Amino acid sequence: MPTYIVLLGPPGVGKGTQAKIIAEKTGLSHISSGDLFRENIKGGTELGKLAQTYINKGELVPDEVTIAMIRSRLSRPDCKGGALLDGFPRTPAQADALARILADFGGKVEHVPCITASMTTLVERLSGRWTCRAQGHIFHQVYSPPKKPSVCDVDGSELYQRDDDKAETVKRRIQVYVEQTAPLIAYYRQRGLLAEIDGERTVEEVTADLLAVLKHK
Ligand code: AMP
Repeated sequence: MPTYIVLLGPPGVGKGTQAKIIAEKTGLSHISSGDLFRENIKGGTELGKLAQTYINKGELVPDEVTIAMIRSRLSRPDCKGGALLDGFPRTPAQADALARILADFGGKVEHVPCITASMTTLVERLSGRWTCRAQGHIFHQVYSPPKKPSVCDVDGSELYQRDDDKAETVKRRIQVYVEQTAPLIAYYRQRGLLAEIDGERTVEEVTADLLAVLKHK
């Protein structure tokens, strides 16, 4: 049976960084809704144009289009063995839709690790974050600077600051998380799937906890 994992947590907590590491270690496909939107924006698609208007304001893209995008991505062959979902679901309606989609594929959500951190940490991490253009590798100007300024250590592509990582938008994104996404903590706890992980530690420590959660439910 395929293994589906939902990685939960506020923007800036390290979901993207951890998802890349965990996907590599487990062989699961890493599905990031934010990355899928950014690819569409880069490609100039209709979906990209629509998504951009919401993303730039720090608001959520409407459920209907987001759910359709994820359904189509999860139906691709590389998700046959399961997937690690990063950034989706972000509302209870999306979580209900995910359960229906996975049921169609003969699976269900198995684990929901939720990474936590204080508001101060989130704002600090997001506002110093630099992202690689090619593959979304993540650096931080203070905590994990690249070896060469503005160049990704992994693939040599340019690093840029996401428009929505600028101070005003960061605050709105965190507020949107608290209002619309945090209810998923109770949603998955009620279903016995939630495992909270302290994100205020080193990348390696958080990875170790995540791997432990995935092995021993
Ligand atoms: P992220 O890269 O996960 O921080 O996502 C960047 C932005 O993409 C978010 O602030 C939202 O505007 C949009 N987005 C990503 N995932 C979702 C989702 N599941 N539902 C609605 N909007 C999303």
